[in-house]
Amino acid sequence: MIAPRKIGLFGGTFDPVHLGHIHLAKLAKEAVGLDEVRFLPCQISPHKPGSSPASCEDRCEMLRLATAEFPWVVVDDFELRESGPSYSYLTAEAMVKKFPNDRLFWMMGGDQWDALPGWKRPEHIAALVEFIVLARGETPVPRAGYRLHIVKGEHPASATEIRRAISNGSVLPGWITPAVARWIAENNIYRSP
Ligand code: ATP
Repeated sequence: MIAPRKIGLFGGTFDPVHLGHIHLAKLAKEAVGLDEVRFLPCQISPHKPGSSPASCEDRCEMLRLATAEFPWVVVDDFELRESGPSYSYLTAEAMVKKFPNDRLFWMMGGDQWDALPGWKRPEHIAALVEFIVLARGETPVPRAGYRLHIVKGEHPASATEIRRAISNGSVLPGWITPAVARWIAENNIYRSP
């Protein structure tokens, strides 16, 4: 019998993908022995106040550039192909259907772990997948019925600050890969009009 693969599902806006995301992917892969990490960019509401997000295509392209050197990474546009909001429980269900014989892990930073009870159908998600949470500062508190793997190691990168720096024309913190930085500059993303 073939052993089940371990697949990490990493959802987020990735607007843009930065070294904090890559850091979490590498830590999770090593700590839990993942065979694959699937980055799942979600849809962003164009009505979100104060944001000028990159397009879905732009975010996917930046993800591909940032992860090109890692053969264990897949950029999966599943949620971008769906109409309507991307509920994580629907994504988890679709991934269970796609990989019925594998072990699935939902990866996230500690902030998302804290927010999880407010997601739609969190218990249902917990029945479908295990969780890998990066402790950023405080150690994530386990919850009954949730299979939790904690990985440790912080990274200071912030997508909000990256977008702000580009829009202000100030110096970019070294938080994105050179290929992504070049691509953002060439394509005029995040600049103020
Ligand atoms: P924004 O500033 O736009 O909110 P973000 O990077 O926090 O950006 P997402 O792209 O949605 O937002 O993040 C995807 C996932 O990556 C989330 O689970 C988040 O907790 C995690 N994450 C974000 N920043 C870091 C970081 N510096 N180190 C590790 N994980 C991070």
